Amino acid sequence: MEQQINELRGRAAEAVDAATNLRELDDVRVKFLGKKGELTTLLRGMSKLTAEERPIVGKLVNEARAQIEQIIAEKNSKLKAAELQSKLATETIDVTLPGRRVHDGHLHPLTLTLNRVKEIFVSMGYSVEEGPEVETDYYNFEALNLPKDHPARDMQDSFYITEEILLRTQTSPVQARTMERHRDNEPIRMIAPGRVYRRDDYDASHSPMFTQVEGLVIDKGISFADLKGTLEDFSKKIFGEKTKIRLRPSFFPFTEPSAEVDVSCVMCHGEGCKVCQGTGWLEILGAGMVHPDVLKMSGYDPAEVSGFAFGMGIERIAMLTYGLDDMRLLYDNDVRFLKQF
Ligand SMILES: [Zn+2]
Repeated sequence: MEQQINELRGRAAEAVDAATNLRELDDVRVKFLGKKGELTTLLRGMSKLTAEERPIVGKLVNEARAQIEQIIAEKNSKLKAAELQSKLATETIDVTLPGRRVHDGHLHPLTLTLNRVKEIFVSMGYSVEEGPEVETDYYNFEALNLPKDHPARDMQDSFYITEEILLRTQTSPVQARTMERHRDNEPIRMIAPGRVYRRDDYDASHSPMFTQVEGLVIDKGISFADLKGTLEDFSKKIFGEKTKIRLRPSFFPFTEPSAEVDVSCVMCHGEGCKVCQGTGWLEILGAGMVHPDVLKMSGYDPAEVSGFAFGMGIERIAMLTYGLDDMRLLYDNDVRFLKQF
């Protein structure tokens, strides 16, 4: 019996030694120490022994079990360490590989242009005002001297939600709302940037939604010269120092007198080119002195104060600054295009 046990110990030690991975080692454990393992089988054979022999053999079997368990445990930690080493060896990071570039997002060209326009006016002391895009007929038209039967309403076919509610066709309602918040002919110097909506085609120069910035100045003694000076200063800041402006008489229901404002062509500087259709001038905004009725409607006294207002499309400014020939480029969200800014 003792010989059998020693022989088993020997074979177990060899098997443990031969195991090359944790799985094989576990097989060895089951083969020798498991419920149906060799050592257990050997223990069963003890029933044939005499009462004197049993404790001696029992002790030997227990010693054998302890020894085999120990060599398995040692081998187990060795194999685990080896496995970790090989993992480390195969999964190393090659620090010489070029890094994966993180692509930063950036602002849309329209936003960039709008920010630039805001910056210029804020630097002149203007505040930036906002208002709802879903507007009432009153603020969008009536408060701006456009009663329900006014022919000028046809100029801007609107998206109506109900008879009295529509998507604003201009940012002017923000002016009316701002004026109403002021009392006692309090001076105003504001711009209102934002999206506006008109029933327009979607082509190279039109879109049913576009971005507008309107400005309003009200104070004692504001004259047409202030309007011209402001717009000239703005044009030079946005298109360059050499830019000239030209005012042509026009009509808007909310201003009197009114003017269309042209800037000297940003491409040819007045020489005449395709962009300005040979005229040397580009129309960029509408402006005028605030109509006395508009002042009155919003609680201002036209005998005490006067003001000017202007409005421009940001798409137009962006197209001129970036040299774009199709407005749809700004809305189609083509990353190949947008990446360039
Ligand atoms: Zn030109």
